[in-house]
Amino acid sequence: MSSLINSSLEESFSRELKQLFSAEDMLLDKALCWTYGYDNSRLHAPPQAVLFARSHHQIVQLVKLCRQYHMPIISRGSGTGTTGATVPVKGGVILSFEKMNNILGIEANNRLIITEPGTTNQAIQNAAAEHGFFWPPDPTSSTICTIGGNLAYNSAGPRAVKYGSTRENVLGLTVVTGKGDTLKTGVKTTKGVVGYDLTRLIIGSEGTLGIITEAVLKLTPLADEKQTLQISYDSIHSAAQAVSAIMAQPVTPCALEFIDKQAIEMIRDYSSAKLPHNAGAMLMVELDGSKSYLEEGLESIICSAQNNGCIEIIKAETEQDVKSLWETRKALSPALRKIAPKKINEDVVVPVSKIPDLIENLDRLSQKYNIPIVNFGHAGNGNIHVNLLTDPDDQQLQIKAQQCLEEVFQLVLSLDGTLSGEHGIGLVKKQFVSKELDETNLKYMQAIKQQFDPDNILNPGKTIPEATRE
Ligand SMILES: Cc1cc2nc3c(=O)[nH]c(=O)nc-3n(C[C@H](O)[C@H](O)[C@H](O)COP(=O)(O)OP(=O)(O)OC[C@H]3O[C@@H](n4cnc5c(N)ncnc54)[C@H](O)[C@@H]3O)c2cc1C
Repeated sequence: MSSLINSSLEESFSRELKQLFSAEDMLLDKALCWTYGYDNSRLHAPPQAVLFARSHHQIVQLVKLCRQYHMPIISRGSGTGTTGATVPVKGGVILSFEKMNNILGIEANNRLIITEPGTTNQAIQNAAAEHGFFWPPDPTSSTICTIGGNLAYNSAGPRAVKYGSTRENVLGLTVVTGKGDTLKTGVKTTKGVVGYDLTRLIIGSEGTLGIITEAVLKLTPLADEKQTLQISYDSIHSAAQAVSAIMAQPVTPCALEFIDKQAIEMIRDYSSAKLPHNAGAMLMVELDGSKSYLEEGLESIICSAQNNGCIEIIKAETEQDVKSLWETRKALSPALRKIAPKKINEDVVVPVSKIPDLIENLDRLSQKYNIPIVNFGHAGNGNIHVNLLTDPDDQQLQIKAQQCLEEVFQLVLSLDGTLSGEHGIGLVKKQFVSKELDETNLKYMQAIKQQFDPDNILNPGKTIPEATRE
């Protein structure tokens, strides 16, 4: 691909862009563009322009124009992604969806909501709640992250243990491919098996196969009631064993979160919840359903959570108790940033039965490399956020941290796990993808990319290694 990447936009391209986007929907000033060159990975590269999308038709025209000029297009929601997927490493235009944020309709009887991609997750939850429903994906960043970002990353959160991730909660999409074609995927019904499942292919593709301009999301009825438990254990191993036991009994919690000892100590200052002292780990378990279901369900969960290492089980009695617990859990990620100059934040997944093995070996790696590792996350899915605390100014430590990380990934794969459960690949994990996917898999994926985006203009350089051109 002959690239147009240079410090300024070609005049004719710029002129045509101005036909498509009004002055208020376009940033060309370098300083203003700079602010759209990052995400929560803290990587940065400046785009050549920032465009605020308004309509599907406009995006079709934009793709056709960018194709002509070999200009990369990087879709962007709120930039809360943690893996650099919105960072324009190959230059190009940032296509922001912050102004394309209308909810287009709710069909309560069909349990669906239709939305533009720039709507926040929270706005969807609020609109759905008015009709007695919710949309299950609930990333901790829900108040600011967008549906487009949730779809492109296949984001999830605590509720995924019972209700699945984004992929399980979408009926259909409207997408503009890298050729400028409009693709309507999926169905508006809860069943449908005609053709290949392009909806699930686009979800999780990190803006590399198509630009999502509309989504039909599947809604779930809100539960009558919830019960939340805080369970403390003497060691991380007892907690990990309890997770396996809870998931082996028939009642599925709607959240099963895990916090290790270091994480408990770390958030004590940021929490109004009554956190246990001298505990090696803590679980937060939430159950939703009708009153009678909850009574029986709680008994079953408590019974399976008890083992020799269980110190105490506390039931949250008031709304405030529940709120404090969740605020505590949500404070973890930002708190880590305050404690260490740099955290390498992974979101690996292993089969639930292998969590004890994972934790034990992470302990070993922490000691081997003398690097603190803080673990917490969505244990019910085996999805553990593994945080290596480092210092970017210490070169030696940085090298050790990278070696440690390689071993963490080897460990995860040896336990039949996967490198990322919800944060995606973006830039930061791309070099590790071939450790998990073999050559045949990668070739098929590269051929799919070629089909959707023959000129490699959609978020180039992300997600999978690029095919070598023959
Ligand atoms: C404090 C904090 C907590 C978090 N907690 C969680 C969590 O619990 N679970 C979780 O899964 N994630 C979590 N995240 C990560 C992040 O919030 C999610 O990945 C979120 O879905 C990203 O949404 P966004 O709007 O910020 O997307 P962005 O970061 O802007 O973009 C993400 C990806 O989506 C693509 N994209 C955006 N819009 C479109 C579109 N219309 N069409 C095609 N591609 C598009 C981008 O190109 C990029 O590849 C957290 C982040 C933070 C900062």
